[in-house]
Amino acid sequence: MAELVDLRSDTVTRPTAAMREAMAQAEVGDDVYGEDPSINALESELAAMFGHAAAVFVPSGTMGNLVGLRLLCEPGDELLCDADAHIVTYEAGAAAVYGGIQTRTMVMARGLLTADVVEPQIRAAGYHAVATRGLSVEQTHNRGGGAVYPLAVLKELRALADAHSLRIHCDGARIWNAHIASGVDLDEYGALFDTLSVSLSKGLGAPVGSVILMKEPDREAAARELRHRLGGAMRQAGVLAAAGRYALTHHLTRLADDHRRARQLAEGIAAAAPDVVDVHAVETNMVVLDLTNAPVDTAGLDEACRGQGVLISALGLRRVRLVTHLDIDDEGVERAIGAITTTLRGE
Ligand SMILES: *Cc1c(COP(=O)(O)O)cnc(C)c1O
Repeated sequence: MAELVDLRSDTVTRPTAAMREAMAQAEVGDDVYGEDPSINALESELAAMFGHAAAVFVPSGTMGNLVGLRLLCEPGDELLCDADAHIVTYEAGAAAVYGGIQTRTMVMARGLLTADVVEPQIRAAGYHAVATRGLSVEQTHNRGGGAVYPLAVLKELRALADAHSLRIHCDGARIWNAHIASGVDLDEYGALFDTLSVSLSKGLGAPVGSVILMKEPDREAAARELRHRLGGAMRQAGVLAAAGRYALTHHLTRLADDHRRARQLAEGIAAAAPDVVDVHAVETNMVVLDLTNAPVDTAGLDEACRGQGVLISALGLRRVRLVTHLDIDDEGVERAIGAITTTLRGE
């Protein structure tokens, strides 16, 4: 049987031969002593890229988000975010359990906050009130189908945050996709956030790693202490940094290919089943299918596709997510369109 077409996530990629070679050649040292040259290079390159004062390598985006949120909020503080945010949906309650952070969530179209919805949720100060301290945005938005925050909306949120002394965290696991899709420079995004977590192991295709960035230099020591407390301080992690640095050089601009293939996937499905997918909603590397009026539900489509070597992921009982990435080529897109459309036509 032909190789699987795995559209479940952009995390399923495996390092290429050239990336493995870069990992094998990496200079390493003990990063707990601050002596891993590859980690140090990656951290300073990323800080410069986003115009931030410091960057700290962490094993996962989940840890990056927790460290970032704890730099903004103390236990007992409140964080405003959208109800579909990764930090409240997919991180096993980390902000609550390890951060003591109370989240207040808002249901937003495609997961994107707007200043007019956020403003009335900011609490007035008072000894018996919870202190609203932070705001978190997700760029691109995962459960929002890879939606990109328009720069103007982010600027309004920044102005609102400044007016109320709130700080902003960006869960930028896929900020790379936003940058490629919108053409907005990474440092322009960086300027809007106090802390920013970026992933090397999503679309960029590195096997492991995220980086937490911070605008204020005096937060770095706290970030390193938090990482250590969480068990995220590693030793010769330069082999991982080398994969990340390779990815930043070789896999960033190619994200445009993933975006093109996601559109082709959506168009191919829409040609057979127009009410299942909104082609115009495809902004980056994700396609969301709405099976409300389809002859199968998510489980049915999953099973039928699996039988044809195509893997998809569930967002709900009748909502499906398809993600393009480094290991999906044009032939894979065609095979996926074939498997999905034959199932939707009831063939
Ligand atoms: C994957 C993801 C994370 C978490 O990254 P892990 O490395 O899997 O912990 C955080 N935020 C978003 C939006 C993600 O898609």
